[in-house]
Amino acid sequence: MAPSAMTRRRVLLTGAAVLSGFGAAAGLRPRPAAAAFAQQEMPPDVEKLYLAGCSVADGPTHQRIIDETRARLAGTATDDEIRAVLARLTCPICGCPVLPPA
Ligand SMILES: [Zn+2]
Repeated sequence: MAPSAMTRRRVLLTGAAVLSGFGAAAGLRPRPAAAAFAQQEMPPDVEKLYLAGCSVADGPTHQRIIDETRARLAGTATDDEIRAVLARLTCPICGCPVLPPA
């Protein structure tokens, strides 16, 4: 290990120890992870897209993402490579895979 990496590690560990001690001295307790999440209303334009394209299998939003990806990769990747990309691609609106399960 390079000496500079060791130094950085020691600095980080020392900093974490100092911050931990400071938090304990200040009476801070770790908050539950659930406090880090907040439920929000879906904005109307996103809700419209979701209902129009994501709430049904093989919906138009997913098909548009598939078509745009195929067009973008055409000529630069093989069909197998494009299929592999599409298999890993998730919808930015609903988070589901854009390809329906086989
Ligand atoms: Zn979607």
